[in-house]
Amino acid sequence: MKKIMAINAGSSSLKFKVFNMPDESILIGGVFERIGFDAPEVSYKINGFRQKEKPPIHDHRDAADYLIEILLKNHIVDDLNEISAVGHRITHGGSDFSDSAVLDRTVIQKIENLCELAPLHNPAGLLGIRTFMKRLPKACAVAVFDTSFHQTLAPETYLYPVPLKLYNQYHIRKYGFHGTNHQYVASEAALLLEKPLKDLKIISCHLGNGSSICAIQGGKSVNTSMGFTPLAGLMMGTRSGTVDPSIIPFIMKKTGHTIDEMMDMFNKESGLLGISEISNDFRDVELAAKAHNEQAELAIKMFVNRVTECVGGYVALMGGVDAIVFTAGIGEHSASVRQAVVSNLAYLGAKLDFQSNEENGPYIHTPDSKVSLLVIPANEELMIARDTWRLSEGQAARLSEKQTVRV
Ligand code: ADP
Repeated sequence: MKKIMAINAGSSSLKFKVFNMPDESILIGGVFERIGFDAPEVSYKINGFRQKEKPPIHDHRDAADYLIEILLKNHIVDDLNEISAVGHRITHGGSDFSDSAVLDRTVIQKIENLCELAPLHNPAGLLGIRTFMKRLPKACAVAVFDTSFHQTLAPETYLYPVPLKLYNQYHIRKYGFHGTNHQYVASEAALLLEKPLKDLKIISCHLGNGSSICAIQGGKSVNTSMGFTPLAGLMMGTRSGTVDPSIIPFIMKKTGHTIDEMMDMFNKESGLLGISEISNDFRDVELAAKAHNEQAELAIKMFVNRVTECVGGYVALMGGVDAIVFTAGIGEHSASVRQAVVSNLAYLGAKLDFQSNEENGPYIHTPDSKVSLLVIPANEELMIARDTWRLSEGQAARLSEKQTVRV
């Protein structure tokens, strides 16, 4: 058994899980929040017991040191060398990575170059990589990219109908994100349905604060709703999703907003928050809608419409669908969103079992439904651990082969 740590570093957060591999049991899982702000917090769970602490940390480096203290004092490890590999979630792998990769100087340089495409996300991932490579220098380090799963998209899907030279010069194309979770739920769906993944057409609806949908045929991503950046596609918590691009220069001319202010407006002030003017948190918007707040009702209708449009489009593209999966915060917990989406898909013969929908699944279709409907909790950390295990074992085997040859 080997201990593998999965790290998901955000701009002010750091999620972690340590797994025993290959049996995939979780030794500890938790999250640091509000890093770099007042009163940062860490909460973690060991053997079902949750702990909350207020660590004296200022940045990600302090958080990594504190995490190592947590691992030692709780005897998750008694020696840091027991962690054989660390896997890092990296948002943007561009066209360079169609699989996860063992981190070396070249890979780190490529991730650095990709910061231009993901200025909000890749720098946090790099910070996590550098911090843990220093703290755990003997552990194999692996990068797991949100974009890799979508590298199977065909050119007619990933290209935008703009001058082709923009792709050739600047790599402007659809990359897609949330790939780690879309891939995970597809493989879980095949297990739940007891059918080979290669024979299935699946639509994965990852509905969280950030939301995207993926069409998966034979285990491969064939289309997805996010694009060049995670701003495209569905309506999200604070992101607009896809809008007519002419709106941006129009507003700039009218208001004198700068391009950075416009990007803030579309990334941070739009979506559920922008329409409801209440919150980006779906629970708050749902509560307000129940109290007949009209803007909250409108926001939810718009959210559901966009999901419906996208699912319908992907059914057409794949020529049918075997299973629709709901995952991530809203997908896993909001019975009313699932009900609204499925009722829009009645034309496909999709029928909801109301009782199991209220209980959050995993199977939420009736026996006579023509489409399987599933709720599968997101588990990006497990996918990170699986890839990290696979690649670190491969590297260990190569190293021992080299040593044998030398001997
Ligand atoms: P992120 O994209 O940040 O990882 P999550 O997958 O955690 O987001 O999803 C967060 C969203 O899930 C929030 O909008 C939150 O309101 C919503 N959510 C969480 N629990 C529930 C619930 N019980 N009912 C409805 N929405 C929920």
